[in-house]
Amino acid sequence: MRYIITALMASTALPALAEVPGVVTDIPPVHALVSQVMGDLGSPVLLLAKGADEHDFQLRPSQAGEVADAALVVWIGPELTPWLETALKNRPEGAAALALLDAEGTEKIGYGKAEGDDHAGETAEDHAGHADEHDHGAYDPHAWLDPDNAKVWLGLIAAELARIDPDNAAIYAANAATATAGIKALDADLSARLAPMKDRAFVTFHDAYGYFTAHYGLASAGSIALGDAADPGAARLSEIRATLEAGSVACIFPEVQHDPALVVQVADGTGAVIGGALDPVGSSLEPGAGAYAALLTGIAETLVACTAP
Ligand SMILES: [Zn+2]
Repeated sequence: MRYIITALMASTALPALAEVPGVVTDIPPVHALVSQVMGDLGSPVLLLAKGADEHDFQLRPSQAGEVADAALVVWIGPELTPWLETALKNRPEGAAALALLDAEGTEKIGYGKAEGDDHAGETAEDHAGHADEHDHGAYDPHAWLDPDNAKVWLGLIAAELARIDPDNAAIYAANAATATAGIKALDADLSARLAPMKDRAFVTFHDAYGYFTAHYGLASAGSIALGDAADPGAARLSEIRATLEAGSVACIFPEVQHDPALVVQVADGTGAVIGGALDPVGSSLEPGAGAYAALLTGIAETLVACTAP
């Protein structure tokens, strides 16, 4: 359909109907933010398939073609999606890309250094080992889980689209302003709902929630797998098991993209309750403008359902 419209516009060549840039995005929350900024002007492409893991994915050849042809690629960065790097390198010289993690104004946190992440239930020695295991990357790439970053990114996306498509700059700016107001309201709602959870420590499947726990002041007690969701070793599993056996952890959460067997095995006999499956990247959600709010709300509701005092 888009191609037909594009062809029609090219033939009539009306300056007021300039072609809206084709935009490709990496993961559902980024796709949702770009969708909000583009509004009725167009729809970005989403690369990550439903149910797929954000760290471990392979582009289909047709998707690599979409990346090559895109006027703009909006993505978190190579720290999250190394599978996107080759396709990006194959784009023409000077093709526009917006890497959000390293963008101006993004609040980044290092692994194991999240504010509010007090490693409940760990001794100082445990924590030292924990920090060592996080030396694989400087920054946690799951930065969309802080709504303050999402607000910054809406402005950056609108500015980049306006640079490429100046005819529609006012529409992009207005859409970003509306979306920013929506995120403020969402954030206030989630803050109120999560306030009673502040002292309820929990364990997650992979180390993806540092931004969320820091922003909402929650007590993460660690994760089974590290930030790239690679399979944990035996030492890691017994470390988490010891944390659960110490008794200060209310819940342990599996994730929608991963078999819960490991979570069940680690939790067995420790007294920790197994919560619902978290979806940190929104891969179980219907993609679209509403997916960002649905993603954060889903995490908050799953946490509250298990950890509420
Ligand atoms: Zn992840």
